[in-house]
Amino acid sequence: MTDTIAAQSASAPVYTVTQERKVVTAIPGPKSQELHERRRAVVSDGVSSALPVYIERANGAILVDVDGNQFVDFGAGIGVTTVGHTEANVVAAAASQLQDVIHTLFTITPYEEYVRVAELLAEHTPGTFAKKTVLVNSGAEAVENGVKIARKHTGRRAVAVLDHAYHGRTNLTMAMNYKASPYATGFGPFAGDVYHAPSSYPYRDGLSGPDAAARTIAYLEKVVGAADLACLVVEPIQGEGGFMVPADGYLTTLQGWCTANGVVMIADEIQSGMARTGRFYASEHFGWEPDLVLSAKGVAGGLPLAAVTGRAEIMDASQPGGLGGTFGGNPVACAAAVAVFEAIDRNGLLAEAERIERTLKSGLAKLAERYDIIGDIRGKGAMVAIELVQPGTAITEKQPNPEAVSQIVAFAAQRGVLFLNAGTWGNVLRFLPSLAVTDALIDDALTVLDDAFAALG
Ligand SMILES: *Cc1c(COP(=O)(O)O)cnc(C)c1O
Repeated sequence: MTDTIAAQSASAPVYTVTQERKVVTAIPGPKSQELHERRRAVVSDGVSSALPVYIERANGAILVDVDGNQFVDFGAGIGVTTVGHTEANVVAAAASQLQDVIHTLFTITPYEEYVRVAELLAEHTPGTFAKKTVLVNSGAEAVENGVKIARKHTGRRAVAVLDHAYHGRTNLTMAMNYKASPYATGFGPFAGDVYHAPSSYPYRDGLSGPDAAARTIAYLEKVVGAADLACLVVEPIQGEGGFMVPADGYLTTLQGWCTANGVVMIADEIQSGMARTGRFYASEHFGWEPDLVLSAKGVAGGLPLAAVTGRAEIMDASQPGGLGGTFGGNPVACAAAVAVFEAIDRNGLLAEAERIERTLKSGLAKLAERYDIIGDIRGKGAMVAIELVQPGTAITEKQPNPEAVSQIVAFAAQRGVLFLNAGTWGNVLRFLPSLAVTDALIDDALTVLDDAFAALG
């Protein structure tokens, strides 16, 4: 079965759902509304849903809901189904692994799939030095482990992050996020020794990479002191913060300072990694070779898996037994991850990400000529965003316009396009499709986006 599916997808991807947008009911439809009522009785109100349509099937770049509506998915579960929903090779690999062994616990009796994923991560993360990996279940858990390892290696306590960062919802990562609401409000007390340094945000600060880095370093030296700093955790392209692409030279200058001062610099590539930006890891765009790299979201095609990968001497700092967890590196998730790496190569997905960037950015540039509330178009590969500002302020004041983003997201949902918002002020519209999204689907979605801007009045 594996061979048949692999042979088919070697030529052209085979889709089990037509790759088209289709709206056949009001959104949400009656069946979704019924499910939503059931959910409200039993699912915590603390868990929200951006669009309460209940999904029955998904394939390629399309979500099908219980009422038969088909959505063009520009969220991909926040950059998780990067190789496409239910990608044939991933499905086959996971299904086959389910027959063989589902769980042993790697820390009791190991298995090859875990080792294979570690080999693939060592090969594909930036830098040619010796690397090692620990596998865990979620992005936040990867962040927690990266910090643990850096502290153990350095014998230092302080953790630095950047303004506009997002790192998760566990206790430590809540303290590492920039935005309190909704991620932290009322959930304290929080972990201490976490410091928030200024970032590089070219649209708003206008600083060169070296100047922005000098500002970050000045903050760290004054407020923390290099001698107490275990690690600096940085998203090479910030995700929830709004897809800010740092100015050239920013990340490498910071890495130089970290290396000179014995600080472990950690790339949180949880959203930007796994071919998303047209490179295996976004750090490569900036010539950055981080000490540790965090992978999650896209790594296993939709199954829960995350990793910390990095310099062997740092990764080996922990005492045996200090790292791990019951489900970390689950065999089914690992088998899926191996298939994801294969799918990226076989389906030429790095080039597909670049195609998506070209198509999206040229379409968005045309819209920006007509709608002056589009203040900025930015991103790399299939990680592109527009930042919206108040009418007439685009050039000068750049006042955030979250209302327009909310209205556009709501309008597009009614037409069968799923867009996500982002940004510290909620004024960023992000495009984070699977790399299976065709130019025809992007053009179709851009038409809906055009209508959405026109409807703003
Ligand atoms: C999503 C995300 C996380 C947290 O990952 P979870 O799997 O949700 O815990 C951390 N960092 C970045 C950059 C993310 O996008």
